[in-house]
Amino acid sequence: MASQTWAIVQHALDALLEDKSFLPNLPDRAREQAFTSLAAILSTPNHVHKSFLRIPLEKGKIVRIPAFRVQHNDTLGPYKGGIRFHESVNEDEVVNLAALMTLKNALHEVPFGGGKGGVVINPRDFTERELHLICEKYVRYFSDILGPDKDIPAPDVGTGDREMDWMMAEYKSIRPGKPYRGSFTGKSVVNGGSLGRREATGKGVYFTFRFMLYDFLKDHSKWLTETNNSFAKTALALADRSLKVAVQGFGNVGSITALEAYHCTHLKNKVVAVSDRNVTLYNSDGLNIPALVEFTTKNGGDLPTTEEQLSQNKIKAEIKTRDEVLYLDIDVLILAALEDQIHQSNMEQVKAKMIVEGANAPVTGEADKYLSDKGVIIVPDILANAGGVIVSYFEWLQGRETQFYSEEEVFKLLFDKMEVTMDTILPQFFGDPFSLRQNCYIHAVMKLCTILYRQGKLY
Ligand code: NAD
Repeated sequence: MASQTWAIVQHALDALLEDKSFLPNLPDRAREQAFTSLAAILSTPNHVHKSFLRIPLEKGKIVRIPAFRVQHNDTLGPYKGGIRFHESVNEDEVVNLAALMTLKNALHEVPFGGGKGGVVINPRDFTERELHLICEKYVRYFSDILGPDKDIPAPDVGTGDREMDWMMAEYKSIRPGKPYRGSFTGKSVVNGGSLGRREATGKGVYFTFRFMLYDFLKDHSKWLTETNNSFAKTALALADRSLKVAVQGFGNVGSITALEAYHCTHLKNKVVAVSDRNVTLYNSDGLNIPALVEFTTKNGGDLPTTEEQLSQNKIKAEIKTRDEVLYLDIDVLILAALEDQIHQSNMEQVKAKMIVEGANAPVTGEADKYLSDKGVIIVPDILANAGGVIVSYFEWLQGRETQFYSEEEVFKLLFDKMEVTMDTILPQFFGDPFSLRQNCYIHAVMKLCTILYRQGKLY
């Protein structure tokens, strides 16, 4: 587990050790021992699997591609987590992302453990046929450890429903006659995927932000106004104004989050900036997000980068450099690209009063502390971007029952589940000095500890 994730888990364990109402029946010595056991269990993954996939390329050469599957913890159910295709994938990153999945599932009461996979490639460097073979080989090499009741992968950066369809097909042919629909989630709808899965993460990201500033504040404004909590002051100030929102990353998560903001009628907000791997686009009156989504859909996923492309598509925007999105004079910054985007060297330039983590780990530990100390509300990844795994859980259930829900039912179930989590976390967050991330970790760790204790795993 990366040191910054571990530091927050350790903080959660320390807070729970102090809280005598948690596991009250344990005498002092046994209590300390139990917490030492918990630290040992949570700080290390159960398994790290690594293989070198043997891939004959179309031009004749054979390459061996490093591939990982990390199974962090299965206390709450089968391991669950995406497979990333990216050239920067490495073991430490996959272990950390697997640990985040354990915490995310515990926080939202999803009955899965935490896992993650990675293949060290830039998918743009491979033909479709080669990518198909990489997916098949991944399943073949890891077939013994995967399965609907063991470990269920899903898409992540660089993979999507196409890859999950290929992988499920390979799993099915390796294990004829065995259940296979629940072996992978994030599949295409025609192949047993869930309606709403593609939009789930982005919709969930926007929901956390809207729920906090609209639904929760509406019901709790009296005591929030009276409290001295700096985050409550930030939230009340934000809820009072017309919000300027910027979104970093315009892929699956970022584009859907931006669309949700664009269409939202509960809050006064406008998306004044979006960015991707090439560019930031800015318009102080608000960008035409549906037109930008249409452009990216037709143009391989990238935003317009020239005045010509903007005018041809009747999009009014100023072109800025890629990273300018992070430093604009805005209220809310939604990070939906990659990890480590706000760190020690650039944290002082960030002006947003609220940051929502659509991506995994986009704010480093130092930046998180610095900004939280200034009263900036950071909605952490494990709270904000869980929509994908929640709807993956619905997909897994639908695959078992072979009964499928309508899109409307899926989104209702998703928002109901996220609302339960928000209602559990927010009163504590606005009532104590801990950051929202610390609160979420305390809740997730508490859940894991309780189950481990009840199962007699702490002796
Ligand atoms: P994606 O590949 O669809 O989109 C990524 C976007 O980020 C693209 O627009 C790309 O151009 C942009 N980008 C890349 N490098 C950038 C940079 N340096 N600066 C600005 N933009 C940059 O990926 P996605 O599925 O939208 O995932 C985004 C993040 O959300 C990842 O961290 C992923 O782990 C996380 N996440 C995704 C899901 C999901 O369901 N897709 C679920 C949970 C978490």
